[in-house]
Amino acid sequence: MTTTRADERQQHPVAPDSTHDVTNQPPPLTPYDPSDDSALLEGLRREGAGWAEEDLRRLGRLAGSAQVQEWSDQANRHEPELRTHDRYGHRIDEVEFHPSWHHLMRTAVAEGLAAAPWADDRPGAHVVRTAGGLVWGHTDAGHGCPTSMTYAAVPALRRQPELAKVYEPLLTSREYEPGLRVPAGKRGLLAGMGMTEKQGGSDVRTNTTAAAPTAEPGVYTLRGHKWFTSAPMCDVFLVLAQAPDGLSCFLVPRVLPDGTRNTFRVQRLKEKLGNRSNASSEPEFDGTVAWLVGPEGQGVKTIIEMVNCTRLDCVTMSAALMRKTLVEAGHHARYRSAFGARLVDQPLMRNVLADLALESEAATTLTLRLAGAADRAVRGDAGEAAFRRIATAVGKYWVTKRGPAFTAEALECLGGNGYVEDSGMPRHYREAPLLSIWEGSGNVNALDVLRALGRDPATAQALFDELALTRGADARLDAAVAGLKDQLAEASQASARRLVERTALTLQGSLLVRHAPPAVADAFCATRLGGDWGHSFGTLPAAAGVDAIVGRALPEHG
Ligand SMILES: Cc1cc2nc3c(=O)[nH]c(=O)nc-3n(C[C@H](O)[C@H](O)[C@H](O)COP(=O)(O)OP(=O)(O)OC[C@H]3O[C@@H](n4cnc5c(N)ncnc54)[C@H](O)[C@@H]3O)c2cc1C
Repeated sequence: MTTTRADERQQHPVAPDSTHDVTNQPPPLTPYDPSDDSALLEGLRREGAGWAEEDLRRLGRLAGSAQVQEWSDQANRHEPELRTHDRYGHRIDEVEFHPSWHHLMRTAVAEGLAAAPWADDRPGAHVVRTAGGLVWGHTDAGHGCPTSMTYAAVPALRRQPELAKVYEPLLTSREYEPGLRVPAGKRGLLAGMGMTEKQGGSDVRTNTTAAAPTAEPGVYTLRGHKWFTSAPMCDVFLVLAQAPDGLSCFLVPRVLPDGTRNTFRVQRLKEKLGNRSNASSEPEFDGTVAWLVGPEGQGVKTIIEMVNCTRLDCVTMSAALMRKTLVEAGHHARYRSAFGARLVDQPLMRNVLADLALESEAATTLTLRLAGAADRAVRGDAGEAAFRRIATAVGKYWVTKRGPAFTAEALECLGGNGYVEDSGMPRHYREAPLLSIWEGSGNVNALDVLRALGRDPATAQALFDELALTRGADARLDAAVAGLKDQLAEASQASARRLVERTALTLQGSLLVRHAPPAVADAFCATRLGGDWGHSFGTLPAAAGVDAIVGRALPEHG
């Protein structure tokens, strides 16, 4: 029998005459469908937004298309550039973005991911936006900043009805019209926010930007310097400044109604760890025209309406990053072999993937529950408003805290390939810590939970009413709820993280016991509540239904 060259190659995998055969590398993940996610679709229906399922599936296919994934990559590779002056020396303070950024923005706004739900009376409209964020979050996180702030500006602006009358229809528009022009003449507007200053971001009461009243009622001029103001090409900003009666909220347009530029000197853009597609700036105000929003002296109370909304978006984006990196990890493990078997078939890798899948499902389920509460609260449900008040701060603390550890582990599933920019994983990893920093850093959110419990007993009531729905269903969950009540009685600033962490895990456990398949709920309760767990992912106990968990999160189609 003669031996062919192909036979020889099979016997000796490294062919002596070929240095660059590519084997054992996965095919591209794209196109894929980020909405192909049971936890997401079940949550969408459960929270009263099943009517939008077809649209969500379409958005999912778009998000996972090669084109949109390419835009996301390019928008991050070609970072925005600040142009302070034109060629003649006039200040222009404009930021130039790569065309991919504009494609992403245009699509996100058109798909209702900015402020559109405020103009949609259908119950579930806000849930649809959050579910959309969970799938669109598989693209680029940076442009989620201006769309989130635009969404969040609306309830704060409503505190000044005559301003809301003019600007709300433009903020809720599905048209993206970039460029600095008179806001009222544009087809759609974007809003940003300027709270943080050099001396303090968490404690905004230390703001030094001053607001001086003019002869015209409600019109002020600002003088001061903000240390972080993202997306400076937005049309209008909600800004905190010290007025004669104390810290107040103002609407600052970049272009005034007469067409002249308002003073908005962008001193520089931040060089950031991640979130590179987005621009985060330091604007200086000097004689800047601003309109009062809400009563003078009630700036925090007014802008907190905005922060409540952006906090939910931080949870959403963290959950989306988890799901995106899990899908990437699962895809790699399915096509990569080591030691004679596919990674996905190796027991220890399956344990890692199952543990990540549990975390991801818990995050997605909690996110959609929070969105449901927000939707019902907006429509006047007081119980849901109380639940939202506490659970959003709890979720913001915990889900965003899990993001960096989760994305690091998912990245490692790709081995060295995951550490390389081409894989996209470093971008997701760099993004993750930001979500627990802005809109209230970890400690600030944990303390906010204490504040809510202390000031408004209805919040604790709403939380325990929710947890009572699973009483008797799982002994570990029952024990966790009882423990939480004890912990609450002894709550202090120093123990706030312990309390909030236990609250988040108990709430996630309760939601999974009610809504997830038994294998998922059981493994979550055993590990996160029962303590049968290690200190890193991939430490599920032998009895955990790993195959069922992996099969649900990462189904093999076809
Ligand atoms: C990329 C990026 C974009 C941003 N964009 C914007 C924007 O568009 N608009 C805007 O207004 N801001 C923006 N921020 C600012 C952000 O909201 C603040 O950085 C954040 O609120 C924290 O404020 P700080 O940086 O001043 O930190 P500090 O307030 O100094 O806090 C430092 C640390 O102390 C902790 N801490 C604070 N108070 C307490 C306490 N009482 N007890 C225990 N610990 C405490 C905090 O949790 C934190 O860990 C952005 C930030 C980043 C990184």
